[in-house]
Amino acid sequence: MTNLILFGPPGSGKGTQATKLVEKYGLLHISTGDLFRYNLKNNTPLGQEAKTYMDKGALVPDSVTIKMLKAKVDENKNVGGYIFDGFPRTIPQAEALNILLGEDNESISALIALDVDDEEIVSRLLERGKTSGRADDTDESIIRNRIAVYKKETSPVYDYYNETGHSMKIKGIGSIDDIFGRLCNEMDKLV
Ligand code: AMP
Repeated sequence: MTNLILFGPPGSGKGTQATKLVEKYGLLHISTGDLFRYNLKNNTPLGQEAKTYMDKGALVPDSVTIKMLKAKVDENKNVGGYIFDGFPRTIPQAEALNILLGEDNESISALIALDVDDEEIVSRLLERGKTSGRADDTDESIIRNRIAVYKKETSPVYDYYNETGHSMKIKGIGSIDDIFGRLCNEMDKLV
């Protein structure tokens, strides 16, 4: 299996690139943000709980997030691999993911981070907010909070996988196809 963590700050293009990677490599895309939004739309208890955090741009607690991710992986065992998008966002989530994959003698093949600077992210997310229908994309202070949370709580996950030589960065600026080309160069070494 090829198990990729597509990493990077909010608005770095993870979702867009994951869709293209799925087409090319046939892996299962798991986005915890999408799973939370699905629950929100369907007004489930999980969605209601997640909403209080998402509205502020804060992280949903690890216990809730890990349980949801584990259920998704458990119901999709017969795949060629996973693209994790927006997960893991904390060290405990990374540890839980390693244990979960380890149960099937699997592991993370690579973490690829899309490198995009803060001001580009703010302008991209404000632009996305005009059409995405996402409350967390319309308010600049919430966007800046999401970036701060990323730096404080999520960026250590890069170092965590770097310790075993699994982390790498690619430039996340340019056309969608240029960035996809850079990603494929790395993916082709893994599959
Ligand atoms: P995203 O679509 O990945 O930007 O996620 C949107 C929001 O969902 C985040 O701002 C968090 O509130 C929540 N969320 C998504 N993934 C996670 C995660 N792995 N851990 C905690 N909260 C998450």
